[in-house]
Amino acid sequence: MTKHSRPTTRVRIVVAVDGPSSSGKSSVGAEAARRLGYRFCDTGLLYRAVSWLAMERGIAHDQTAALVRLVDDVKLVADARGRLRHVEASGRDVTAEVRGPAVDRAVSDYSKVPELRAALVPLQRALADEAGIIVAGRDIGTVILPDADLKIYLFASPEERARRRAAQRRLSANGTQARGILEDMLRRDAIDSGRQTAPLRAAEDAIVLTTDGNTFQQTVSQVVRTIRQAEKRARAANGETGAP
Ligand code: C5P
Repeated sequence: MTKHSRPTTRVRIVVAVDGPSSSGKSSVGAEAARRLGYRFCDTGLLYRAVSWLAMERGIAHDQTAALVRLVDDVKLVADARGRLRHVEASGRDVTAEVRGPAVDRAVSDYSKVPELRAALVPLQRALADEAGIIVAGRDIGTVILPDADLKIYLFASPEERARRRAAQRRLSANGTQARGILEDMLRRDAIDSGRQTAPLRAAEDAIVLTTDGNTFQQTVSQVVRTIRQAEKRARAANGETGAP
C-alpha cells in the first residue's frame, strides 16, 4: 500500500488509528497529521452525521433502506491542511451538532447496522488511494484498511477517558454530569465491541499505545515517533536510503 510522494526522499504511509471512545484518536490523530504533513480523516464523523440526520428525520435503526440513503447526504469537509474534521449534512456544516450528547447516546445503535457500515466502506477506502494519511475509527485496521502500512490502537482506561472528556466540556471531574459521561462511554464501548459486524478491537498487527497518565502532547509525540519509524521501515523495505 506504500506509495511515494517523492521517490528518493520521504516515504509517506497509510496509518490506521483505532480505539474506544475518547481515547484521543481524533485530536491526537489530527495533531500528528499536522506535524507530519499528512492528511487526516475522522471516520466517526460519518457515523455521527448519519445518526444525527436519522434522528432529525425520525428514521429508526431497522429502517435500513432509508438509513443507507442518508449516506448520500453526508460529506466530509477538509480544512486548510487537508484534515477531514468537519462534516456537512444536506450541505450544512453540522460538526458541532453531531458531537453533542444526543448523538453520543444514539450513534452506536445506528453504527451496528451492517448495511449502513457497508455503504460507508467505499468512501473510507478511497481515502487511502493516496498515501500520507491517518484514518481514525473503530474498524480501520481490521476491516476498512487491513493492508494499512501501520496500525495503531490507542488505549486508555475508561476513567481516564471520562476525565478527559469532562475536562473538554469544562465539567467538574466528580459531578453528576461527569459520572454520566463515564456511564455513556461504557455503554457505547460495550455496543461497539460487542456488535457482530466490524466490532471494535485491536488488529493483531496493531501497535497498542496506552496513554493513561500522558499529556496530550506526549501522546502526539509517541504517535509521530511511531509513524516516523514505520516510514523508515517502509523506505528500507523499498531498498531506499536518503533524507528522513
Ligand atoms: O469516534 P467517535 O466517538 O466520534 O465515533 C462515534 C461512533 O461511531 C462510535 O461509538 C461507533 O459506534 C461509530 N464508529 C464506528 N466505526 C468507525 C468510527 C465510528 O462504528 N470507524
